[in-house]
Amino acid sequence: MINKTIPLIFERSTPGRLGYQLPNLDVPEIPVSELIPEEYLRVEEPELPEVSELEVVRHYTQLSRINYAVDVGFYPLGSCTMKYNPRVHEDLAALPGFANIHPYQPESSVQGALELMYNLGKHLATISGLEATTLQPAAGAHGELAGLMVIKAYHTHRGDGQRTEIIIPDSAHGTNPASCAMVGYNVVEVPSNERGAVDVEVLKGLVGPKTAGLMLTNPNTLGLFDENIADIAEIVHDAGGLLYYDGANANAILGIVRPGDMGFDVVHYNLHKTFSTPHGGGGPGAGPIVVSEELAQFLPGPVVHKDAGCYCFSMPEHSVGRICSFYGNFLVYLKAYAYILSHGSDGLRAVSETAVLHANYMMRSLQEYYHLPYDRICMHEFVLSGKWQREYGVRTLDIAKRLLDYGYHAPTVYFPLNVEEAIMIEPTETEPKSTMDEFIEVMRKIAKEAKDNPELLTSAPQNTPLKRLDEATAARKPILRWSK
Ligand SMILES: *Cc1c(COP(=O)(O)O)cnc(C)c1O
Repeated sequence: MINKTIPLIFERSTPGRLGYQLPNLDVPEIPVSELIPEEYLRVEEPELPEVSELEVVRHYTQLSRINYAVDVGFYPLGSCTMKYNPRVHEDLAALPGFANIHPYQPESSVQGALELMYNLGKHLATISGLEATTLQPAAGAHGELAGLMVIKAYHTHRGDGQRTEIIIPDSAHGTNPASCAMVGYNVVEVPSNERGAVDVEVLKGLVGPKTAGLMLTNPNTLGLFDENIADIAEIVHDAGGLLYYDGANANAILGIVRPGDMGFDVVHYNLHKTFSTPHGGGGPGAGPIVVSEELAQFLPGPVVHKDAGCYCFSMPEHSVGRICSFYGNFLVYLKAYAYILSHGSDGLRAVSETAVLHANYMMRSLQEYYHLPYDRICMHEFVLSGKWQREYGVRTLDIAKRLLDYGYHAPTVYFPLNVEEAIMIEPTETEPKSTMDEFIEVMRKIAKEAKDNPELLTSAPQNTPLKRLDEATAARKPILRWSK
């Protein structure tokens, strides 16, 4: 448990205490004023904590202990795939032959690294059922940007530049419309039907000569598989548009169904969600995209190709250009490659079967306690609604805060936007059943508390170092430094 009275490092400060020891100077001392022009010199001493090494160590260790992480406990943050990432991949990424190479080295001296990138691209192509890969994008949203740039280049190349619209369902991840705007496309929203899937009849009326494409994730962010995907693909293709697959959370379909077979032309994967790189806190990540043969010529580069047994970098013929410095986040590729090889095709399929089983187990265990807006078999995640609890004056936010009191990270809340009081849970394939059972028990308990003692929820959290925050202010105006 966290010690709530941890002194901040400035509060530990004792005048004259030092955290370092330096040997005596064995060269003549030069006054600072001779080294730095007068006007740049400080007038006052900086206000720094005066602490010993031990106090610094304790300070940072205690800070790390009030952080929540997958390594600490269950982290059911839907659409984020906060699963366990095997440590052996970190060991591989730390091997000096990988960790110490430099992007300016001649290609002949890094053939192994290039081979790895080449093979990873091939594996991702196999997994997606598409042809050509670029590993360049550094995140999922960056992959979306790259993929949409490729779609735009394709239309422009064909002299079909009047296509200005991308169709996106109302359940989409927020990065999808944002990426469209970045590329200069207008977003046309297609509503979900009563099964939580794309309303095909409405879609038919939305496509036309302005349609550049459709962006979809399948299973969608409700965790539901859209069975009409073949029809959807046909409608969009017949109108001259392309299909973009948001494959950020691919752990529902690996080895079971391929986006290429569903009719998609472009897909991005989040290596840092599905393929074993820890994430959160800003990276590094990787969001490679895989495209059909026809689109390969537009990919951002450089990409690795194989030429007479050697691996080298090249730019695709009509490439949209570079979108990342050097060759992207190589050590993330390495972890993904290791993850794919260590699982093999059967293992990847087992990942998905397990992720889907876990989500369905949890959904069925909770549906009597929380409203389930779409009562169907779910994929790797599911969405509940807190609307029953609202009758007792409790909102989804209060349920999420109460979970913190029980030592859990909260699920994703108020997303997707088309479910009121949404609670989006993704247990992931790496959790043992016992952890899921404990969480289910706590969720049931909270449902009971909402009825019997709603105050417990509306005043939560009580057991955390900080109580309830003004979330908007905390996000927009964070106080990141100590001050008196
Ligand atoms: C996480 C996620 C993204 C964005 O990925 P980043 O790496 O955070 O940019 C896009 N789409 C979906 C469905 C996601 O879950």
